[in-house]
Amino acid sequence: MNPVVIVIVVLILLAVGAGVFLAGRTERRALPTPAEGAPPRSAPAPREAGAAGGFRGEGLGGKVKAIFGRGGDADVWGELEDVLLKADVGPKGAADLVARVQADFRDGADPAELLRAEVLAILGQDEALHLATDRLGVILVVGVNGSGKTTTIGKLATMLVGQGRKVSLAASDTYRAAAGEQLEVWAERAGAHLVSQDRGADPSAVAFDAVKSALARGADVLIVDTAGRLHTKQPLMEELKKVKRVIEKAGGEVDETLLVLDAQTGQNGIAQVRAFAEAVEVTGVVLTKTDGSAKGGVVLAVREELGVPVRYVGVGEGPQDLQPFAASAFVERLLGG
Ligand code: GDP
Repeated sequence: MNPVVIVIVVLILLAVGAGVFLAGRTERRALPTPAEGAPPRSAPAPREAGAAGGFRGEGLGGKVKAIFGRGGDADVWGELEDVLLKADVGPKGAADLVARVQADFRDGADPAELLRAEVLAILGQDEALHLATDRLGVILVVGVNGSGKTTTIGKLATMLVGQGRKVSLAASDTYRAAAGEQLEVWAERAGAHLVSQDRGADPSAVAFDAVKSALARGADVLIVDTAGRLHTKQPLMEELKKVKRVIEKAGGEVDETLLVLDAQTGQNGIAQVRAFAEAVEVTGVVLTKTDGSAKGGVVLAVREELGVPVRYVGVGEGPQDLQPFAASAFVERLLGG
């Protein structure tokens, strides 16, 4: 056969092979496709205006009015507590809120208004991320597997890159199969630099390398992923503490420790994450999947039971589906209806 024809046939076979290979990789990763909104690197930053999260359920306003509309019989406070519990506010939060509203209550007062004021007082000021600007800012991200940790890191990286920051990611979840690969896809998509090692590597060693590399590259922010399994087991919690120590040893300083919590797990989720809050000093929560069937009260439960603010809410699976939490918009949603 003519050598030119042979070369052409070989080239065609290679191209077909590469196509099949790439298609296979895309399928395995099972992440939202770019068609779902992956921004080009020069895309503007996602909306910074605060939002309430998805929480599409019915607001509590109508129920509260109905309870108090009957007249002031002795049961109203118990019923108010029930309504709050059903909205996932949590036992501590519900009892505390009822006591506060009861203490404020005077004849002729509007209990829904009192409730609104107390919820706002509990939530306090909205807080943006506190990241150093004169040195490498470091965000440690913790949470149980499946909570949306990797997705949230991808969204945060997208947001920060969109704000013009140079972002590095550390794949310190070296336990979970495909965690590193998944993060690689998000890093590419966001325009962030990823530092990873093989599965089973020491998570602290990855964090150490990542700090050194981020410093050498002059990165503005390093986001460190961590393992999320065995959250009740001591070794993992010890490991989280070690990752934090090693980051400092490598010359980094952790500015924020964000705990990722699936809003749909309600009170069970709150109990699960307490272990994390005991191991590392959590500075804020990212509440994911608020676009699902989650009830809004979980925001109050986070504040009351974990003592930290919700910083961001996840409202979908795409790179732009992360919104800064805003208490005022949230209270309108929770107490509307
Ligand atoms: P990880 O195990 O904690 O790293 O969790 P992943 O980031 O892999 O997310 C688990 C699943 O939740 C994936 O299917 C994500 O697409 C999905 N997910 C994460 N955040 C959100 C969100 O805010 N809304 C919705 N609807 N899905 C989410």
